[in-house]
This record gives sequence, structure tokens and C-alpha cells, in this order.
Amino acid sequence: MAKITLDNLAHSYFPNPTGEADFALKELNHDWADGEAYALLGASGCGKTTLLNIISGLLTPSQGRILFNDMDVTASSTTDRNIAQVFQFPVVYDTMTVRDNLAFPLRNREADAGYIAMRVQGIAAMIGLEETLDRRARGLTADAKQKISLGRGMVREDVNALLFDEPLTVIDPHMKWELRTQLKQLHQQFGHTMIYVTHDQTEALTFANKVVVMHDGRVVQIGTPQELFERPEHTFVGYFIGSPGMNLIPADVEGKVAKVHGASLSLARAYGALSGKVELGVRPEFVSLTEDVGLPVKVRRVEDVGRHKIVRADLFGSEINIVAGEDQSISPDMTRVAFDPDRVNVYVDDWLTEGEAA
Ligand code: ATP
Repeated sequence: MAKITLDNLAHSYFPNPTGEADFALKELNHDWADGEAYALLGASGCGKTTLLNIISGLLTPSQGRILFNDMDVTASSTTDRNIAQVFQFPVVYDTMTVRDNLAFPLRNREADAGYIAMRVQGIAAMIGLEETLDRRARGLTADAKQKISLGRGMVREDVNALLFDEPLTVIDPHMKWELRTQLKQLHQQFGHTMIYVTHDQTEALTFANKVVVMHDGRVVQIGTPQELFERPEHTFVGYFIGSPGMNLIPADVEGKVAKVHGASLSLARAYGALSGKVELGVRPEFVSLTEDVGLPVKVRRVEDVGRHKIVRADLFGSEINIVAGEDQSISPDMTRVAFDPDRVNVYVDDWLTEGEAA
């Protein structure tokens, strides 16, 4: 397994980039810890595949270096990097049996026949393909073929890293959950360094110990699911993660007081003079509807989603979302919202600003 270092890394698909906007991947410096499970999460086009392909060696970065265990591999081929990669769509040998497909990466490395048989059997059990081991891959469903691809990616124990690019796209929804859980178990069992690309926050948050959130070619935060929930470092993280995402409320902030459309509310921390676009970020879970405390709102809609209710309300002409308890009744007298001061984050030009404990 390997620690992966991204050193001054950036990539532009243009031969002569003239500015930041020309970079699909903006400059990035980071150490990815050996044996950690990472998810690369972000909307379509934010640069996830570009970064993954640079790590795997399918793409040479236009700037910077990539190191595996402190060895520069920027110019090394995918094979020399000793990584396994699973793509969005199946890559299988149609004329081979499932067994031979799974054994292929091990035979290629001239592994011992007994070891191959044992390993193939174990992987087939994990991905639910034991019954089809002796069938040819041709004629199997896309779902089954993708399981073969996953199995082939996981069959070798000696890889430096396992890379997955939206690997569950073609998998049946109920099987997705099962495979994701199995991948997580595999990580716990073998401690591979894993990088999993997805645009689906549930997939990212359930699979990974560390989630790398990307936005517009930039890594905006690397954190545990809890850190991303509690302290989004960028408004995009707040908005993209959570259901519904974090509320963003334009405000003026001075010291420990925020003013929203002239109405004042207290903050838990003190802030110096802030210039630029200032916003309060507060997750719907930390907003409560009240009768007499807080900012004035008008409830528009209440959605019962089972475990809780989502209240959609109007705050000075903009939507604010509130998560209320399943048993909480929402009365017409509830015309105000209060925020848990410890849970209010302050953003300047989309980036989190740390206040001082007062
Ligand atoms: P998706 O989830 O849709 O695959 P992504 O987050 O993986 O998106 P990338 O595929 O890395 O994003 O693309 C990042 C940006 O680079 C996009 O604007 C895309 O149009 C551009 N891009 C990707 N591949 C190429 C290429 N071969 N040539 C030119 N531009 C490219």
C-alpha cells in the first residue's frame, strides 16, 4: 500500500492555458494517507476523473508531481504504479469464463495456482458470483459484468492503491448498498489505500473515512463525514452535503452580532471587520421554529419524510429549510426561527471564517 502525495499538482487540457479558468484541476498539494479510504465527491465536471486518472497514470499532469511512498511516479505507467482501477462501465474479457476473468490479474503476475484458486473463490463469494464462475462473461447482464470488473480490481492484495470511478453506476439499486458495504469491509480487512469517485453523497459518506469534496476543479475540503457536516469550509460543501443542504443567509457581521435585513442575532464567536460577501451558514437541523424568538418567517410547506419533517419557509424573500422532529406539530403561530449559536458558521466570499471565542 502507498501514501500518495500530490505535489503542486494541476492540470489543463489546453496546450497553452492562460488563466485559472483553463485548468480542469486547480493547484493541489496534499498527502493521502497510506491505507485510508477516500471518496472524491463533487458534481459532474468538477475534475474528479481528471484527478483519478492522474493518480492512476492514465493522464500526465500539466504541472506538478505525484509520489507513491515518496517516490516520484509522475512519468511511470499505470502498470509500473501497481494500482488497480475499476471504471464506470464493465471491462471484461467476453470469451473468458468469470473464473478466468477474475484470475487474470493474478496469472499475469505469475501467482501460485493454489493461491489463485483460493483468492478467486473468496472474491466470487464476496461479489455474489460463485454460481456463475464457470460461465463465459458474454451473455451476462451489465450488472454481473460490472461485478466481474470490481472483482478483478480487488483480487490482488499487493496493489499500491485501488481506484474506483463511479463503479456502481450500472449496478441494480438494491445491490449497490450491498457492494458498497462489501467494499468497506474489504478496506477494513486488508487496509488498501482506496479512492472512490462519486457524485452521490450517500455513496461517499458511507464508503469513505475521508471525503474529498471538489468544486469547479478545486478541492474545497478534505474531511470526515462529521467534519463536513459540522464545519463546512466552503459554502459548496454546506450546500452539496446534507439533505436539504445548509441554509446560507446574507448578513452583516460585527463583533458577536449578525444583522439580517436589520434584525439582530447573537453569534457564539466574535468576528473582526469582514469585507466581501458575508453569509451565515446554518444547517436545517440547527434551526428551530418558534412563536416568539428569532427572525420572522412564513411557513410555506411541510414535508413529512418519515424520520423527521422538513419545513420550507420564507425568510426575507429567500427560502430557509428547517428540520423538525417527527412528532413536532407546526402551528400557525410559529412565525419565527431561532438558530443554535454554536452551529452558525460565518462565510466570507464562500470560505469559512474562524471567529474568536468570546
Ligand atoms: P463527471 O462526473 O461528469 O465524469 P468529473 O468531475 O469526473 O465529471 P472531469 O471528467 O474530470 O470531471 O472533467 C473536468 C473538466 O475537464 C470538465 O470541464 C470536462 O469537460 C473537461 N475535460 C475532461 N476530459 C477532457 C478532455 N479529454 N479534453 C478536454 N477537456 C476535458
